[in-house]
Amino acid sequence: MKIGCPKEIKPQEFRVGMMPSAVQEAVAHGHEVYVEKGAGLGAGFADTDYVAAGARMVDTAEEVFATADMIVKVKEPQTVERKRLREGQILFTYLHLAPDPEQTKDLLASGATCIAYETVTDDRGGLPLLAPMSEVAGRLAPQVGAWTLQKANGGRGVLLGGVPGVAPARVLVIGGGVVGTHAAKIAAGMGADVTVLDRSIPRLRYLDDVFGGTFKNAYASAANTIELARQADMIIGAVLIPGAAAPKLISRAQLSELKPGTALVDVAIDQGGCFETSRATTHQDPIYEVDGIMHYCVANMPGAVARTSTQALGNATMPFMLALADKGWKKAGADDRHLLNGLNVHAGKLTYAAVGAALGLPS
Ligand code: NAD
Repeated sequence: MKIGCPKEIKPQEFRVGMMPSAVQEAVAHGHEVYVEKGAGLGAGFADTDYVAAGARMVDTAEEVFATADMIVKVKEPQTVERKRLREGQILFTYLHLAPDPEQTKDLLASGATCIAYETVTDDRGGLPLLAPMSEVAGRLAPQVGAWTLQKANGGRGVLLGGVPGVAPARVLVIGGGVVGTHAAKIAAGMGADVTVLDRSIPRLRYLDDVFGGTFKNAYASAANTIELARQADMIIGAVLIPGAAAPKLISRAQLSELKPGTALVDVAIDQGGCFETSRATTHQDPIYEVDGIMHYCVANMPGAVARTSTQALGNATMPFMLALADKGWKKAGADDRHLLNGLNVHAGKLTYAAVGAALGLPS
């Protein structure tokens, strides 16, 4: 199969759909891989790395789209990219169609077969192509929160690990799923005194069994949440109710109960945020203050570490990419229902019920 990897064109997107090691494996499987020149630069991969891996470098995205049987990307195709898709071509990338009727219309019109990373599943009920980005955002959260806590940035001027004779910072993580667990591990590793809240008893049991000696956990009642929030120097919002907006767990009125200069890191901002005063920010201007409380609410946190994110995503997509290339989407989907769950659009038809329901379209 001819596989194509264009450079990402969405603003502030530095990741790339295929890293050189993925190209190398695809070539070893007998495929041809066409990579747009400069596609990997934002993630620290030079064109020479791709050439060494066996890629054929091409000058323009047009050539990549025109040549390839399958396009492998990171972000949903932008308008100009959607015009380049054609009937029978496979598109393998994040799509997030439910809130995006324009993109859905264009993908239906293209006739292409569009497989969305975010709806591929695994045997444990997880989302294996979303999890790596939650891992990245979770591990980044204490790092950006520590920076936010610095005095010059408006924070309390507290060092996460303390020093001998001075107590460490207290970090409260609300939501103990993928983001929350990784955030708690890193915060504890930096020496902070960490508590994780969750509403799922099985999840609390898991956290207790695996991390009991590393950080504390508690049930996320409203009473526990505000009591622990009052004591915290940093609060990381990491809740998710699948398919719904994030619940607001700290109100504006409650900000006055927190210590001045507390750092709120709202990782759940891509679902609307779990603090009432959260609004999405960018890497250029990541923090703002409300009532003396510092907020960090960047909606695409993994973009800050594009190289790590590309590698984490590429490791997770590689086996699916190879299955699609080796067998074609029909046989690959027939052999693996989890990959088939990624199918959102095929030959002008919506094939994912939740997207159809969200957009009021037949599926
Ligand atoms: P997850 O499903 O693994 O974990 C969510 C956890 O929240 C679950 O354990 C659930 O029991 C818990 N929860 C739900 N309601 C709760 C409540 N009221 N109180 C306490 N806990 C509650 O999800 P995840 O992968 O960890 O993602 C968490 C959030 O981070 C999502 O909104 C996701 O979209 C977001 N995210 C953001 C970025 C970013 O760049 N900002 C990157 C990755 C993920």
